[in-house]
Amino acid sequence: MAENVRVRFAPSPTGEPHIGNIRTALFNWLFARRHGGEFVVRVEDTDQERLVPGALEAVLESLDWLKIDWDEGPRVDGPHAPYVQSQRLDIYKDLARKLVDKGVAYPCYCTRERLDEMRKEQQRTRQGSGYDRRCLHLSDQERRDLEAEGAPSVIRFAMPTSGVTEVEDLIRGHVEWRNELLDDFVILKSDGFPTYHLGVVTDDHLMEISHVLRAEEWLPSTPRHLQLYQALDFEPPKFGHLPIIMGPDRAKLSKRHGATALLDYREEGYLPEALLNFMVLLGWALDDKTEVMSTDTIISEFSLEGVTKSSAIFDREKLTWMNGVYIRDLSAEELADRLLPFLGRDLPPGLLPVDRDYLVNIAPLIQERIKLLSDAAGMTQYFFEDLPVYDPNMLVQRGMDAASTHPALQAALEHLKESPSFGHEHLEQTLREVGQELGLGPRQFFGSLRVAVTGRTATPPLFETMEVLGRDRVLRRLSRACEVINQLI
Ligand code: GLU
Repeated sequence: MAENVRVRFAPSPTGEPHIGNIRTALFNWLFARRHGGEFVVRVEDTDQERLVPGALEAVLESLDWLKIDWDEGPRVDGPHAPYVQSQRLDIYKDLARKLVDKGVAYPCYCTRERLDEMRKEQQRTRQGSGYDRRCLHLSDQERRDLEAEGAPSVIRFAMPTSGVTEVEDLIRGHVEWRNELLDDFVILKSDGFPTYHLGVVTDDHLMEISHVLRAEEWLPSTPRHLQLYQALDFEPPKFGHLPIIMGPDRAKLSKRHGATALLDYREEGYLPEALLNFMVLLGWALDDKTEVMSTDTIISEFSLEGVTKSSAIFDREKLTWMNGVYIRDLSAEELADRLLPFLGRDLPPGLLPVDRDYLVNIAPLIQERIKLLSDAAGMTQYFFEDLPVYDPNMLVQRGMDAASTHPALQAALEHLKESPSFGHEHLEQTLREVGQELGLGPRQFFGSLRVAVTGRTATPPLFETMEVLGRDRVLRRLSRACEVINQLI
């Protein structure tokens, strides 16, 4: 790519960002990084009524979490600052005025009531749609009178009423629209703010954006943008519209599909690198089989040719599977560090703080089975409890009773007190022999020991668990088990 790549992500802070928004950011970022270009974040806050406090912070936090960094934008100064549209109002006003002077835009004084009337009439007669251009035909005198009355006005763009507007979309190919079907849309609102159309065209031009990569829902706005570019004598960027994301039932992605605010995935215990890998597959593929790829590989392989035209399917099960794959790939230290905040959040406060060194030993024991970091507290709580809480009857295994369980636990306790090593291999060997001497099957003996040391019937491998718990904890738990089983005899 010979030209300098400059792309942008232009969030409107009107709600918490979801997968679809951030997928757009991701594809732009990948494209910039792939081509050594720049990635700009621009805040499109022109719809003042729909602003949601905290939404911009959530967008930036989502990007931070995924390590999607930007070269210009909020928090990162650049040559085209400010990167927030509400701080650039004079620029849009000037351009709107230029378009009016040029005769390709005009003030419109129609009130909301009049526009509602017009729409109703259009529905009743089934004729026409969009603005009927009444104010285009005002005489100079009428316009002066309205101004003198102080009538509020917007500026509308005068769309050509014939011909076509066409684009060679980098993803969708050739698309064209008949101009007569597009109405004279508003470019400047009565509050002095630009509409999205004027804001986006102005800033994409002034910020020297080379490629506009955005969701397909913006494709119908593209002819309006192209007309504005032409009227303003601006060279348009290249456009590429990313496929829609759908749920497995092929309906547009919604909360119903388990797709919530992006940061909820963090709370649920997804790893950012797993989510990033999953998201890139929502509309892009390296080939027909590769799914798990490092971010570096994705950056070096990303291309618009690999972006699909057909809708992308969001499959939460696949995301969860992929998260498990990434979790298994972590070192014990890394996994422990990722788990620490979740245990801090989810374990009963009395068990905190968690000792990191201890957790580094525990982590490999759950690594094979854990799919979400938030699974960890439930799976590891017994490691941190002073004494696990359980029903004493659980100690009694099939074919045994309390009377035969007590000496078995007692024998284990005695041997483990003396055991020269507490490594799992040694523990296994010792305890197998003890079980045989007692005439117990491994299921019986080890089943009882498992409950005694963990309070559970299913855990990671018993001897590894005992090794990690360490001699002191295991002995305390065994003697406690001897006491409680004694009460059942
Ligand atoms: N502000 C628009 C949005 O919220 C940006 C659309 C575009 O990328 O042109 O998605």
